[in-house]
Amino acid sequence: MATDHSMVTGSVMRTALPITAQSMPAPIVPSGRLAGRTLAVATAADIQLRHGEVVLTFDDGPRPGRTDAILATLDDFGVKATFMMLGNAARAHPQTVQAVALQGHTIGSHTYDHADLSTLTQQAAMTDISRGQDAVAAALAPIGKQPAPFFRFPYLAQTGFLRTSLFRDNAVVLDVNIDSKDYYKDTPEQVLARTLARLDARGSGIILFHDIQARTVTLMPMFLKALEDRGYSVVRLVPKTNGPFGIDVITAEAPVDLRGAY
Ligand SMILES: [Zn+2]
Repeated sequence: MATDHSMVTGSVMRTALPITAQSMPAPIVPSGRLAGRTLAVATAADIQLRHGEVVLTFDDGPRPGRTDAILATLDDFGVKATFMMLGNAARAHPQTVQAVALQGHTIGSHTYDHADLSTLTQQAAMTDISRGQDAVAAALAPIGKQPAPFFRFPYLAQTGFLRTSLFRDNAVVLDVNIDSKDYYKDTPEQVLARTLARLDARGSGIILFHDIQARTVTLMPMFLKALEDRGYSVVRLVPKTNGPFGIDVITAEAPVDLRGAY
């Protein structure tokens, strides 16, 4: 993909340069076939992906501008993702948190301030996890929504104690199968090629991106088009709760035919 000049040019056109500066770019046109199943998740064991299925996750946001651009791209392709937000970012940018929820995406948490929990005392670690979840919940409260009980460890640095504690609290630790490493100082094309190669080698999986990264904003249209071209589908994760439909209010935008199925 890194050598596909027409696709790169197409992306640039969408974001920056005037059309007159382009040499007949191939536009990225979604076919609308990328959206896959919705999985209602009560425990990590509920996330059973079939061959060709991917879950998109975005950590460390929200960040106004970049998160909004990611949302626009996801909407272009009609797919839903899970955003694992930091409490301090959610507190600073509640409108962006709300925009993510209002567009039907799932929101989990990622601690308050991105500490390496494996280096903290158990009490301090649990406090940081709770503060993060509470801050995301506070940002969503004005629109009557709530975060999913999904959690991801910063740096993927976990301990057995914390994992067990989260399980007992009915939280779902969202693991990562494919790390895009989009925080490396690589070009968008390099991140794109690396992520697709790892996905193709594995065949399915939960993919980690960061919506705070400019290169991720740039590569996302190309990435989703590549998924579409290769026949992948994007699975939406929603929390399974004891609400009236077995799913909670944050999933209100789910297709009607999925309601009552869980
Ligand atoms: Zn992170």
